[in-house]
Amino acid sequence: MNQTVTVIGAGIVGISCALELQRRGYQVTQIDRRGPGEETSSGNAGLLSYSNITPLADPALLRRLHRLILNQDDDFLLHYPHLISLIPWLLRFVVRCKRKIYLRDGAAMNALTGASIEKHKLWIAQANAQGLLNQGGGLKLYRERETFLRDQLERELLTQCGVRHRLLDPQQVYELEPDLKHVFVQGVLIEDTVSIRNPEKLCKAYAQMYVDAGGQVRRATVRSLRRSADNWELNTDQGTEAASRIVVCMGAWTPEIIGPLGYSNPLAIERGYHTVFAPGQEARLSRPIFDVDASYVMAPMEMGLRVSTGSNLTYRETRPDPRQVERVLPRVREAFPIDENLLPEPWMGRRPTVPDTLPIIGAAPRHPNLWLAFAHSHMGLTMGPISGELIANCISGTEQPFAINACDPARYL
Ligand SMILES: Cc1cc2nc3c(=O)[nH]c(=O)nc-3n(C[C@H](O)[C@H](O)[C@H](O)COP(=O)(O)OP(=O)(O)OC[C@H]3O[C@@H](n4cnc5c(N)ncnc54)[C@H](O)[C@@H]3O)c2cc1C
Repeated sequence: MNQTVTVIGAGIVGISCALELQRRGYQVTQIDRRGPGEETSSGNAGLLSYSNITPLADPALLRRLHRLILNQDDDFLLHYPHLISLIPWLLRFVVRCKRKIYLRDGAAMNALTGASIEKHKLWIAQANAQGLLNQGGGLKLYRERETFLRDQLERELLTQCGVRHRLLDPQQVYELEPDLKHVFVQGVLIEDTVSIRNPEKLCKAYAQMYVDAGGQVRRATVRSLRRSADNWELNTDQGTEAASRIVVCMGAWTPEIIGPLGYSNPLAIERGYHTVFAPGQEARLSRPIFDVDASYVMAPMEMGLRVSTGSNLTYRETRPDPRQVERVLPRVREAFPIDENLLPEPWMGRRPTVPDTLPIIGAAPRHPNLWLAFAHSHMGLTMGPISGELIANCISGTEQPFAINACDPARYL
């Protein structure tokens, strides 16, 4: 039996699919225009995170919708020329801002997250990459009591899902992170969250396991896919080739390839930025913090303190808009002693997101031997390994570990 599979995209999702399929006995070829993990999967905040099981369509968001539309809150920057084309997406998003839907989608996110973090831990051990893993949890910090109360539903979701988390008063926060400045009134330690000290290195470590076991990674830009007789034809900048089974894991670029097959684009692109600081005065941060009122995540990494921003809703390819980075920097200095900025320009990445925030994982609705794994939004680093497992189960006809209809491609394609 022909056991070949071609995986397009070598971000964390594509790498995980390739590795898992190879371990099920498939002969896998992976294609990417860049090296493994060098696009969005390199520059994220490194959290394998339970605090992100919260769907973006939060009922509390509706109460500040006017502020978001007027670009008054730093967690969100809307590029106005993009608004008209975003309206259908936004309407589907806004109708989901209901408690019942939020808790249901959050439970589905939690199932994916829990299974994926367990698999990460296994792969990290197998890749001998334990040095990249920080098991100190994730710390959510509030400057305003009002914001803490606003996030009540999120804590209800964590409790409902059995995610271990602890409320901390300011003294407990500063005992845990003594170098933080005293600007916080409340903390929540998500004990089950872990983090990665260098996400690109992690991707490359997983890709190396796949290569060491005989897997191929080829560098090429895929231009289109075409069905011919019983096969797929892949048109790349290196020529045309045949493939029997294809898994598309191209993150924000997936619509470019599946659009011409008749699938409409379901994505909004939330761009995000990061910069990196040297810690000041020998200050030490033991775990990532999310400064909720100031809208940034600061994570201790191998390269320094990586500060990541919220969502910049705009076209995928317009030029970078560093306003969110500029706005959060003074707030970072209020919270932690930082020294020089180690990046000449902020890094920019693209989070591809559908209105329910859940990824798209499974068989393409109208084409045989074509599978999709994309739209991982804020959670792709976390959900890479489980995406690989679910796709391998789909292809091999193995029963899924839990119901995955929440990720069904047909809900948007
Ligand atoms: C600022 C920021 C912070 C984040 N923080 C976190 C976090 O803390 N935790 C978390 O879990 N997630 C986080 N994320 C999200 C996470 O980074 C993404 O969800 C994840 O990287 C998506 O992985 P992917 O493999 O789907 O996409 P990508 O990593 O973008 O991979 C897609 C691949 O497709 C390739 N490709 C595209 N077009 C073509 C083509 N035509 N031919 C060949 N190859 C092509 C690209 O080169 C790329 O390698 C964050 C994202 C951002 C932007």
